[in-house]
Amino acid sequence: MELRDHYERTIDYLRISITDRCNLRCIYCMPPQGVRFFEHKEILTYEEIVRVVRLAAALGVRKIRITGGEPLVRKNIVYLIESLRTIKPIEDICLTTNGILLENYAKDLASAGLSRVNISLDSFKPDRYRQMTRGGDITKVMKGIQAAEDAGLMPLKINMVPIRFLNDDEIEDFARLTLQIPYHVRFIEFMPMGPQGLWNSERYIASDSLKAVVERIGPLVPVRLRRTGPARYFRFNGARGVIGFISALTHHFCGDCNRLRITSDGKLRPCLFSETEIDLKPALRNYSSDKEIQRLLRLSIEVKPVGHNIQQRTDLLSLKTMSRIGG
Ligand code: SAM
Ligand code: SF4
Repeated sequence: MELRDHYERTIDYLRISITDRCNLRCIYCMPPQGVRFFEHKEILTYEEIVRVVRLAAALGVRKIRITGGEPLVRKNIVYLIESLRTIKPIEDICLTTNGILLENYAKDLASAGLSRVNISLDSFKPDRYRQMTRGGDITKVMKGIQAAEDAGLMPLKINMVPIRFLNDDEIEDFARLTLQIPYHVRFIEFMPMGPQGLWNSERYIASDSLKAVVERIGPLVPVRLRRTGPARYFRFNGARGVIGFISALTHHFCGDCNRLRITSDGKLRPCLFSETEIDLKPALRNYSSDKEIQRLLRLSIEVKPVGHNIQQRTDLLSLKTMSRIGG
C-alpha cells in the first residue's frame, strides 16, 4: 500500500510531537516564560499514538520521527519506542532532541529499537549555548552525544540554526567537525516562527550564503544519500562526515515532501507552514473505528498543499511555535 497525494508525492513519513513541554527555552523557539502548555489530558496518550501509527503504517507510512517540545522530558519514552518497534512495516524510528537528557536514555532507547537521533546544538561555546537556550548546560549535551554514539545511534545528526550576530561565527567550526568525525552536520535556515520580534531579514542567513561560508574551508562535493528528506548534502574531499543544508525558505523542498505531522494535542498537520489541521483526538476518544481514523489520515493528505508561500506571507510570526508543532 502506498499513500500518494494529489501532486504524486508518496507520503511515507510521520513526525509526531509527543509533548509541547521543554527543559530549555531557546530564544528562537520559545518565549522566556514558555507558552501555555497543554494539560496532560490534552495530549495524546502513548496508546493513542501507537494506534495512529499502526493505522498509518497499514496505509504506507514507513518512517517515524519522535519530536517535541523536548521528547525526552515525557515519561516512559522507552516504552513508546518499544511499542512502535512492534509495528512491523515501520522501518525507521528516529528522535529529535536537544540532547540534555540523552546521556540517561541513549542505551535504553537503542535497545528499545530507536534507529537514530538528531541533536540540536547551536553553539560550542558554553556561555553562548547557555544564553541561546536560556540556561542549558552544554556539557550535558556533549555527554549525550557521546552516549548516543556509544549506543550505536549512528549516523548521528547535529542540527544547527545559524543566526546572524548570534552564532554565525561558528559555522566553520561546525562544518570542520565533519573532517574527522562521521556525523551529519546540518545547517537549518532560521525560520520566521517562534517568539515575536526575533526573526528578521538581517538575522536570517540563506543556505547559499551558509554554503559560501563553509566553502572557505574547502570545496564541497555533492553527496547522494539514500533518503535525504529536505536537506541537500555535501562533503569535503576525504571527510568522514557530511554537511547538509535545510533551506526552508530559499529552496523549495515541497516538491519532494513526503511527510505528515501530528502535534502533541493530536492535530494532523499536512504542512509545517500551513495552519490547516485535522483533529484526530475526538475520533480517537469517541471510539471511532480504525476505518474512520484512516479516513482522517487520508483526508490530511488530500488537503496537503502543493507548497508553501512563506516568503509572501505577513502573518508568519503568529504561526504556532515549533515546540508546539515539532519542528
Ligand atoms: N526539542 C527538540 C530539539 O530542540 O531538537 C525537538 C523539537 S525542536 C522544535 C526541533 C527543531 O526545530 C530543532 O532543531 C530547532 O533548532 C528547530 N527550530 C525551532 N525553532 C526554529 C526556528 N524558528 N527556525 C529554525 N529552526 C527552528
Ligand atoms: Fe525546546 Fe527544542 Fe524549542 Fe529549544 S528548539 S526550546 S530545545 S523545543
